Order: sequence, then structure tokens, then C-alpha cells
Amino acid sequence: MIHTRPTKIVCTIGPATSSLAAIRGLVNAGMNVARLNFSHGTWEEHEQRIETIRAVEKEYGTNIAILQDLGGPKIRTGNIPPELATVETGDTVRIAPLHGTANPPSGTIPIGYDHLLEDIPPGGTVLVDDGKVELEVLKLCADSLTCRVVRGGRIESRKGVTFPDQQLQMKTPTDEDLQALEFGLAHDIDYAAVSFVQSADDIERTRDFIKKKGKDTPIIAKIERKIALQNIEKIILSSDAVMVARGDLGVESDITMVPVYQERIVRLARNQGKAVIIATQMLESMMESELPLRAEASDIANAVYSGADAIMLSGETSVGHHPEAAVRTMARIAGNMYQYMGIDESTRHHSDESLGDPQGVAMSQAACMAARQVEASYLVAHTLSGKTARLIARQRPPQTIVAITPLESTRRRLALYWGVSALFVPGIELSFLQAIKKGDQELIASGLAKPGEKIIVTAGIPEGRSGVTNIMKIHIIGSE
Ligand code: PEP
Repeated sequence: MIHTRPTKIVCTIGPATSSLAAIRGLVNAGMNVARLNFSHGTWEEHEQRIETIRAVEKEYGTNIAILQDLGGPKIRTGNIPPELATVETGDTVRIAPLHGTANPPSGTIPIGYDHLLEDIPPGGTVLVDDGKVELEVLKLCADSLTCRVVRGGRIESRKGVTFPDQQLQMKTPTDEDLQALEFGLAHDIDYAAVSFVQSADDIERTRDFIKKKGKDTPIIAKIERKIALQNIEKIILSSDAVMVARGDLGVESDITMVPVYQERIVRLARNQGKAVIIATQMLESMMESELPLRAEASDIANAVYSGADAIMLSGETSVGHHPEAAVRTMARIAGNMYQYMGIDESTRHHSDESLGDPQGVAMSQAACMAARQVEASYLVAHTLSGKTARLIARQRPPQTIVAITPLESTRRRLALYWGVSALFVPGIELSFLQAIKKGDQELIASGLAKPGEKIIVTAGIPEGRSGVTNIMKIHIIGSE
């Protein structure tokens, strides 16, 4: 069977979609991953949402991964004195760090970043309020930075400030993020997303924290800082998945370069077998309208064409007026594009990189090749960690990929991966042939496959060990 829509859909859950009926609606419309944005809402609200999502997942017998998106450090302006609220292009202004509640020197624009004077050198750029106002640092003074106004406008209190080219001393995840993550881990979230990642160290620190809490929750690096692009290979290598967070990336970098960065990140992530999510403004107009813009439809189709694992809705589903219609529209555009692509071999993956796992890559390539030669309908991976299913998905094969796993965590996590359906089959101790038999029963019971269909099965023997896929069978469902 050819996939109908291998590209997964991530929906941000918010006030518009917190009820049982709304979550059911999103699942019916095609949601695969529910994102909880910890920049907004209380922990109690998120806890309630987690319970509702789990209840609907159980009711529908489906797989919904929960992605906890940690807010990260957000630098903001302090209280702006009225006489400094409007700056004109060409003016000279002074900006100063706002240390806690201490007042910055008079006549300066306060910025809530303690290391302002150390981190932003002359020549550096300061963007205020999504880049509406742009400053260029001219000179470092004892208590402030003197800047030229490159683009004038209004500067309001508590607006976001970014320094696109600078490696900052700010920590991500922040201490508050780690507290939120502890809460998320206690609620068994399936992915943790780290905002404003600058380098692989940010991911390593998060991983250490997760390990100390006794978990192995996978980490998503949100690529939204321009500086992250300089370290992108290492960041991708250290993460389990990446998100092209086009909102902040479009503020920090030249917006006309965002599509180029997007393609580059998708290509690098796919080469490394890491999941990649394209995010932000995919159906922005559907916040209000029941129909998408033509350009939005093309944006989604382009993300599908480039082979992204997942596409994401933010405000469209969290606070928009037509959340369910937005998901349905996204699913239909993605499905239509994929049907067209089904005949286009150039979208398949041809990298031979071994990823430090020659055996896993060899097995997944062999399985895809066998499926093509014998015209199998499914690629079925018996897997503990989900790795073989992920490596098979990396090949972007035309056959449906089914992961059979005795671990609930693996079943849910695979909801993010391109083209992978996952079935929970208890029995870590089953022999290869017993597991195939059990798998056949589940494939039939779930309605995914029928007796007599030809499939390719991969597994590892001896059973019950992770990371040792070493056997493949060309198999007819229901036969010995
Ligand atoms: C983004 O900036 O595109 C993004 C996804 O991050 P957030 O929604 O957390 O700002």
C-alpha cells in the first residue's frame, strides 16, 4: 500500500482546542503530534490538556505524541520613558542593561539582558519588536551602548529584543525551562523542544538533565537564532529532531533567506536520519478565514516535496477560529502533493552515509530494496527503540512503514516520523517467528493489512536487545 499522507501534522494546543470535543476534532482531522507551548498558559492548563489528549488517544486507539515546547530565554525591553518611545531613522540613542529591578541610567532605553555591554560589540545589530526597530551599535560606554537608529519607529515596553549575529551568554534552557521540563517528564511527554538553541552544548545540557531524571525523552532543537545556523551540523547531530522555527528565524535573519535556510536544514536533517518539522505561518490566514491563501497551500506542498517529516500549526490551532478546518486543509494539501510525488523518484533518499551505524543503515537499505524488487506492500520493523523504523523512513520508501514495538514510548514517539505507523505489541521476549505471527495478527486487527499481502519484516536476534537489527524476511501475512 502506498502512503496516503506520510508527512505528519503537529498542532499547537491552546485555548481554542483544549476541550475534549476540540481534541477529538483535531485527531479526526489528522493531528499526529500535539504541541504544548510553555511560553503560554499555566502548568495546570497543560496538565489538563495532557490528560485530554491521552484520553482521546486511548478512545481512538491511535498514536499522538506530546511535544513540550520550552519557552526559552526571551529578552525584552524594560519600561520605556515616554520621551524615548519614538525613535527616528538616523537618530543616536543609548541602550542599557536592566539589572533586575535596578533603574538603568536616565536617557537610556532599558533592555532586560544583564550581559548587554559584554556581548554586543560595536557594529552589532539590535532588533526590537520583531525587527520593527533596528539599531546599530556605535560605541561601548561605561554604562550603556550608543547606537544609530537604522530603522525608526515606536519602542514599547516589554517588547522582544534580539541580537542576530551574537553568541550570547544567556542560557537555554533557562532555569524556569528546566523546572517546566521536570514537570513535563513527570507527565511522560514524548518530546522536549528547546527554544533559541545556539550550539550543541544547549542540547547536551538538556540531555544530561533528562538523564538525571531517569528518562530518555528525545530532544528537538528549535532553529530560530541566526547564530545556530553557523553550528547547524553539530546541533543536528546532538539532537533527535529539529524544528525550523521560521517565526523568530525570520526576525533574526534576512527574511528572504528563510526559505534557503529551511531547505538546508531539511536536507541536513534528512541525511542524518533526524526528524525535521517546518513551523510557523503555514496557514496563518486560516486564523480568521475558512480557506487558505494560494501561497500557503504552495508553502505546505513545498514542505512535503522537500521531504520534511512534519509540518506544524501554531496560532491556527491554539487560538484561531477554524482549528479543525486548518488541520483538514493541511492534511489534504499534503496528501494531494504526495500523491503527485508518488511517481517522482527524485524525492527518495539516495545518501549512503552510514551515520556511525553501518549495520542499521545496511538493514534499512536492504529492506527498502527488497520491498521494491518483490513489490511488497509494507515495510514492517520489529523495534524496541524505533531506530530501524526511523532508518527505513530516512529512505522515504513508497511502501507504508509499520513499526511493531513492545514499548509505549516508542509507539508514541514514532508519530513524528515521516510515513511511520506504529503498533504496540507486548512481548519483548518473543522469538523472531513468534513476533512475526503476533505482528501479522495485529496488522490484520488494526485494519492496516490483509492476509496474503507480501511484506518485508526486519528484526534483531537474539530478541529483547536494542540496536541489533540483523535479520530480514520476505513474508506473506498469515503464512509460517
Ligand atoms: C517560531 O519562532 O517559529 C516558533 C515556532 O517558536 P515560538 O512559537 O515558540 O515562538
